[in-house]
Amino acid sequence: MENIYVLAEHRKGVIRDTTWEAIAAGRKLSSELGAELTCILLSANAAMAETLSTEAPRVMVVENPIFETMNSEAIIKTLKEILKPSGSYVLLMGASNAILDFAPGLSVALDAALATDCFSAEVRNGKLFASRQMYSYKINSLVSFKDSERVVLTIRAGSFPFTPSDAAKGAIENVACPIDPTSLKKRFIKYVEAEKGDVDIASADIIVSIGRGIGDEPDLDVFQSLADTMGGVLACSRPIVDKNLLPKFHQVGTSGVEVKPKVYLALGISGAFQHLGGIKGSPLLVAVNKDPRAPIFRVASYGIVGDLNEVVPVLNEKIKSLKR
Ligand SMILES: Cc1cc2nc3c(=O)[nH]c(=O)nc-3n(C[C@H](O)[C@H](O)[C@H](O)COP(=O)(O)OP(=O)(O)OC[C@H]3O[C@@H](n4cnc5c(N)ncnc54)[C@H](O)[C@@H]3O)c2cc1C
Repeated sequence: MENIYVLAEHRKGVIRDTTWEAIAAGRKLSSELGAELTCILLSANAAMAETLSTEAPRVMVVENPIFETMNSEAIIKTLKEILKPSGSYVLLMGASNAILDFAPGLSVALDAALATDCFSAEVRNGKLFASRQMYSYKINSLVSFKDSERVVLTIRAGSFPFTPSDAAKGAIENVACPIDPTSLKKRFIKYVEAEKGDVDIASADIIVSIGRGIGDEPDLDVFQSLADTMGGVLACSRPIVDKNLLPKFHQVGTSGVEVKPKVYLALGISGAFQHLGGIKGSPLLVAVNKDPRAPIFRVASYGIVGDLNEVVPVLNEKIKSLKR
């Protein structure tokens, strides 16, 4: 592959975290392939290119009011035109909802292979491989791209931790908008913000998560207290929401929220794949479960086999004493 491109995602004038992680993936592939890394910004405000240029050696900018939002039709048509002269390339984007809206259509327009929600990407003997999960997170698959000169990868949040670079600022190249925005059939009407709860578990660094193992009449203050001591937030598995013990925005999993904390403490959670699917981005999973054969121990970094009613107060006290 001759080029690595990263499409910048933005919302309300701010570059989204998914972009920085895609840049981290791009840097890795760029050094493995010896290919140039270019960030592409389609925006109503070219000033964001300055921020990107601190992290990418080259930034291509197409400035037009149509790109105030991530308009999928405008993005597909524009990328098709501006990438036409490129030879072989890998185009990286975050695996966000906005990007999932157009990633398949974009890969068709570019005549490129597509692998979505990749949690790893690497080059072996000059060939690109990516890993992604299939069948509701039941299996990991390693995919290669037979005879593909162009590949589109979307990158799962939390898979490529981003660290700011101290390299010199990259070059910014302005590109004329190659499409006629008035010819587009799709237009942005307005943002409708998702209902927000009192906590945002998706952006929490420390999560204490409770499952059915807490019993039928639990004292939630015990778990909230542990979360407070750890400087984290309280989350849960689906049965806790089904029992109306916590609101839905606390639920982790495939039908809940996908989280990527630095520490995830699972209390009385068995480790069903629908739950684990929501914590794939967490580097440190600690599980407390009284059943030594609970599936969660197969994926946990550390496990405590025991009754959470005994373990939680001890953990809380121990952490408090360490903080004193
Ligand atoms: C379409 C679909 C979507 C789903 N989406 C989600 C989702 O987004 N998130 C989600 O979480 N689930 C989801 N589920 C449900 C999922 O399949 C599991 O049923 C659920 O995750 C189990 O929750 P749990 O681990 O809390 O409970 P259980 O599986 O019942 O596990 C409870 C665990 O607690 C342990 N335990 C019991 N008492 C104690 C004690 N005193 N001390 C220590 N350990 C104890 C037990 O050994 C057991 O391992 C979904 C299911 C479907 C069908």
